Amino acid sequence: MLNDIGMSPSEFDDAMHLPYAAEDFLTLAMLSVGIDPDDFHTLEFAHDHFMSRTCITCPNRRRCHSHMQAFDFESHYRDFCPNRDNFSKLLGKRCDA
Ligand code: SF4
Repeated sequence: MLNDIGMSPSEFDDAMHLPYAAEDFLTLAMLSVGIDPDDFHTLEFAHDHFMSRTCITCPNRRRCHSHMQAFDFESHYRDFCPNRDNFSKLLGKRCDA
């Protein structure tokens, strides 16, 4: 499973000490910005761009969580989310479809 998302066991151990380590912010973030996390294209893109790895090792998980709680992630994530460019690409591709 770690291989699949591009992480070594030690990276994963380190990530487990980050805030809200057990929470899946990637799925919440996708839903928040208007991306279907279960769409085949989304899953393929997320896998190819190591989006889960970026989320699990993200230094901004606490800030992310605050915005999720406030339901305003979509209007702030461009300021701090390391996956912002990937979200933009996914949104752009969806618009092109
Ligand atoms: S801010 Fe970090 S934890 Fe939140 S969605 Fe972006 S990459 Fe994931």
